[in-house]
Amino acid sequence: MRFNELDLSNELLRAVDELGFEEMTEIQAKSIPLLLEGRDVIGRSNTGTGKTAAFGIPAVESITDLDRGTVRVLVLCPTRELALQANEEMRKFAKYKHGVKTSAVYGGASMEKQIHELKRGANIVVGTPGRVMDHIRRKTLKLGELRTIILDEADEMLNMGFREDIEEILTNVPEDRQTVLFSATMPPEILALTEKYQREPVQVAIKSTQRTVESVEQFYFEVAMGRKTDALKLLLAAYSPASAMVFCNTKVMVDQLTEELVKAGFRAAGLHGDMKQIQRTQVMNSFKNKTTAILIATDVAARGIDVSGVDAVFNYDLPQDNEYYIHRIGRTGRAGKSGTAYTLISGRRQLFDLKAVEKFIHAEIREMPLPDKADILSLKKETMIRDISSADADHIAYDILDRLASVGVSAKEAAARLLTARLRAETASLPELDSARPLKKGKRSGAKTVKVDINIGRSHRIAPNFILGALVDATGMSGKDFGKIDIFDEHTTVEIPEAEKEYILESANPMKINGHKVEVKLWNGVSYKDKPQRRPERNLPDRRRRAYGDRKKSEVFSDYIPDRKKRSKKRH
Ligand code: ADP
Ligand code: MG
Repeated sequence: MRFNELDLSNELLRAVDELGFEEMTEIQAKSIPLLLEGRDVIGRSNTGTGKTAAFGIPAVESITDLDRGTVRVLVLCPTRELALQANEEMRKFAKYKHGVKTSAVYGGASMEKQIHELKRGANIVVGTPGRVMDHIRRKTLKLGELRTIILDEADEMLNMGFREDIEEILTNVPEDRQTVLFSATMPPEILALTEKYQREPVQVAIKSTQRTVESVEQFYFEVAMGRKTDALKLLLAAYSPASAMVFCNTKVMVDQLTEELVKAGFRAAGLHGDMKQIQRTQVMNSFKNKTTAILIATDVAARGIDVSGVDAVFNYDLPQDNEYYIHRIGRTGRAGKSGTAYTLISGRRQLFDLKAVEKFIHAEIREMPLPDKADILSLKKETMIRDISSADADHIAYDILDRLASVGVSAKEAAARLLTARLRAETASLPELDSARPLKKGKRSGAKTVKVDINIGRSHRIAPNFILGALVDATGMSGKDFGKIDIFDEHTTVEIPEAEKEYILESANPMKINGHKVEVKLWNGVSYKDKPQRRPERNLPDRRRRAYGDRKKSEVFSDYIPDRKKRSKKRH
């Protein structure tokens, strides 16, 4: 269905036409006619499906000259960015409807300025719930004549703890208003809200998420534990996207990763909810105008942000919720363009989680090997050939070449030296590639190792496969990530990759081995030969000697692959 088939004013149709919208998206076709009739609507659809226009067009259309100076429509959004974005888009719809005045109110910005703007006669207000409540309390925002209230990204607003504010706002607006709710998911809390505050709402849902997912090619990389940052640097160096988003699950991770990438010379910036508004606006603007190539963000900070021309999305962490995976990858492959999504996973558990995502989205996420230095160099070579073929040169450059020729350096030799310097500069900060690989059986890849000490040993009737199995279970790492296992009478040492030590200590405490609660500590390095108090083997009871007597003091079980069934059989 096309916009011009709707009963809209010429002013609005003209604005929509100028935006290049012709066909309505599914959610628009289903909800706009109902909203124009004044019905309450519950709309369920994902990011990137055009919800702003779905509620924005009817909202703008509902304003007439009689509404000057009276707030008639209130839109609540979870974040300042979304409020600004919705406000901007509504302003575009209102371009030729001169009576429409929209205004955005959100936290972290000057109250005075917002009060001033509201006083200038806004009839559509877009805001975050907290700041809207502030304005209501100060009586700088009067909602007594409100006709329509719209909750955009309602699930996210509840996730962010805005429930009380939202309910208070809903009880403070006229009862005979229109209530519209859009949400990507419909948890029970949302349904409770609609039951309490909507009148005979019509449910509108779009069938599937295929729309977003289909145009996005999806890959994953298996990365050794603790090596995701290095892997990401390699990927960014290899693909050099002009515009990419990287998703992390925590604000701390966003900060850390941003710092690392900036240090490595990438044009990267972070975005999360703890940042000041002014910083966030700066970051968003520089990402939109492509000064910043890589935006690192949490799901909440990035929710609904609409930036065109994002080439790639990287999931540094797998999202905690499968739905988020779709939101994330929907940032690329927009508006009919194709995009690529890359997910980094470490360990068995994340591989399981990834398989669950695959099932959820009904699409394949293909494994890809991490690029190595040779791959990156050959990609750089192509880029340089392309760049130089289309570049131009200054006069001074020829002067330099002439001078060089006079001291015996040919133009070809000079060019080769310059190219070498540039290649070196561009690959200098790349991480040590080998360390991105797991410890291999037998020959080690050169990665540094340390030992951990576990307070369980032969006297507890423990075997190496019990220990390895428990470590693999606790860490989600592969058996290949662990090295030599030395079992002593009262304790055991296990060789582990040094880079993973913190992760292993954290995830292996507490841990149970064969029913015993154990403690895993960093081994202090004292060789066991130095410890004379070791109980001599002959003092062991007969039955224990039989079990272990003919076994070497220690064995390497580094290629042990965990198998629950086998393990439990051995136990009995
Ligand atoms: P959502 O709120 O569902 O995440 P948005 O409202 O932000 O989605 O819309 C996503 C993008 O699609 C925006 O850039 C918007 O301008 C564009 N868009 C929306 N509706 C249409 C349409 N009917 N035709 C073309 N582009 C559209
Ligand atoms: Mg939106």
